Amino acid sequence: MLITTCGAGFRGAIGHLVSIQLHHTRGARFHVSGLHWNHARHILARIHAALEVSGLPRPSGALTLHIGPAHVKPESNELDLPIALCLLAVAGAIDSNKLATLFSMGELALDGRLLADESNPSRANFTCSSTMVEAGLEINRCLVPMGAETWANRFFPSQLPTFHADHLSEAVDFLQNNIPLPRVPEVTDTCTFTDHWPTPQYDSIADSTGNKEALVLAAAGGHHAFILGPPGSGKTLMARSLAELLPNLTITDRAHLKHMHAMRNEVFHADDRIPFREPHAQSTPASITGAWNALGAMPGELALSHRGVFCMDEFPEFARNAIEALRGPLENGYIDLNRAQGSHRFPAKTLTVATANPCPCGHLTSRNNRCRCTPGTVRKYLSRMTGPLMDRFSIHIETQLDRGPAELSDISALSGKEAIRAISWVRAKKEMLTAPSSLGLDWEPGVKHQLHAWSQQRGVSRRGFESIQHVAETACLIEAWQHQKATESLKISENHMVLATRFRIFDQTEWLDRAFNPQWPQYHTTE
Ligand SMILES: [Zn+2]
Repeated sequence: MLITTCGAGFRGAIGHLVSIQLHHTRGARFHVSGLHWNHARHILARIHAALEVSGLPRPSGALTLHIGPAHVKPESNELDLPIALCLLAVAGAIDSNKLATLFSMGELALDGRLLADESNPSRANFTCSSTMVEAGLEINRCLVPMGAETWANRFFPSQLPTFHADHLSEAVDFLQNNIPLPRVPEVTDTCTFTDHWPTPQYDSIADSTGNKEALVLAAAGGHHAFILGPPGSGKTLMARSLAELLPNLTITDRAHLKHMHAMRNEVFHADDRIPFREPHAQSTPASITGAWNALGAMPGELALSHRGVFCMDEFPEFARNAIEALRGPLENGYIDLNRAQGSHRFPAKTLTVATANPCPCGHLTSRNNRCRCTPGTVRKYLSRMTGPLMDRFSIHIETQLDRGPAELSDISALSGKEAIRAISWVRAKKEMLTAPSSLGLDWEPGVKHQLHAWSQQRGVSRRGFESIQHVAETACLIEAWQHQKATESLKISENHMVLATRFRIFDQTEWLDRAFNPQWPQYHTTE
C-alpha cells in the first residue's frame, strides 16, 4: 500500500514543495529516506504522542517514509501534519485518495494542536524554491494552521481553497467526515495598475528620435535593450525611464525581493518602486550573479533587480568575465549558484539594459565629426560589443545628439501613462500563456518568409531570428491594445516585422561598415 501527499519543508529561509510517500507492508520496521534520521525521529516521536493523546489510531507494520526530492532534506517541523495524515491513512482513519491532491503543513504539539512557526523571522519571509507547476504536483486544496496561510500562498500564486485546522482531529474530521473548516480568505496577488511614477521621465524623451517606441517594446515584451550613442544623447535617461514603464510588483515578487535584500543586509521597503540597479563597471562577476559566503548563498545585483531593470552603464567597461556570466541568467530568468557549499537558485526576471558609446571618445556617430579615434581603436572597442551576449539583446537603440525626425509608428504616439497601461496589458497577456517564449500569433502570409530572407542576407543567428519574431509579436500586441482589437484575430504584419528589424543595428552590416569607414562623415550626407 502506497500513500502520497504534499507538504512543504524548509531549510533555513528557503521553502521547498515536497512530496511525501509512505509505503506499508507486513513486518515491523520503519525506514526513512529524504530526511536526516535524527530529525525524522523527533517528528515521529511528536506524531506518536499526538495520535495517542488525541485518541487516534497508530499504524503497525513495516513502513517506509520518503520525502522527495531526496536532495532537499528539509530541517523544519512543518512536515508533521502531512506525515501524520499518511500514518492515519495506513491505520484506516482517512481515505488515502483524499491525501493525494492535498497540500498540508504544520508542526504538531504533543496534544495534537497544530502550530505555525511564526516566531522565526527568516521563515516569515522565506524564499520559495519551487512552485506547484515546477514540482509537477496536482493539488486542489490546502490545509494549514493559523498563521501559515501566507506561506502556503507563496507556493500557490493561483488561489487554491485553503482551510484552517487548529488540531489534528479537526483535520481528520474535515478529510474523512466532511466536517467544514473555516476557509482562509483569498489573498490577492495580482498585479494592479497604479500610477507608481507620478511624473514619468519617459514623457521628457525627445519624441523625434523614434526611440520611445523601442522602450515601450522592450518593457512590454521583456526584451533586453542595448542603447548606443554619444555622451549626452540621453542614454541614461532612457534606461531609467524603462523602470517607470514596468508594471507593479506582485506580492510574490515583493516577498522574493524583500528576502533577497535581507540576505545582503539591505532593506527592501514594502512601498519601494520597481527595482533599478546600476552596478559599477568595475563590478566582479560574483557581485553581479551572486556568491557563497560563510552565511550561505548571497544574491548579486542581477537577482536584486528581479522584476525591475538591471542597467549596465558603459557596457564595454565591464570585465569580460562579468559580461560572460550574464549569458545564462539573461536567457533563463534565474541564476543558479552551484558551488562546493551547495546550490541555490535566485529568481532574476530582469529587464537588462546596457548603454555604450560608439567609440572610446564617444563621438563616432555624431554629426559634428569630432571623433579623433583611429579605426584600430574603434574596431577594438566595438569588438567588445559582439559575440553571443549581444544576441541576448533583442532591441538595439541608437541615440543621436541632433537626429532628424525618424519614421515613427503609432507606438511612439503613446503618452507615458498610456504606455504603462499598454505594457501592463501586454505583459498580462504574455504571462497568461504557458509558453512564455512564443505567443503563437499568426503571421500574415509571406511575412515570415521575408524575415527569413532578411536574416539570411545579414547572417543573423538563430537566436537573433527568434528574438526578432518575439519583438514583432510584442509590436502586434501593443497595436491590438491601441486599437482595441480582439487577440484571436491578430496577425503579425510586415509593419511589425519591419519595426522589429529596425531595432537590430548590429545585424545591419551597413552599420558596422559605417563605423569602420574612415570616411565616416559621408554616411551622414547619404542618409
Ligand atoms: Zn571616437
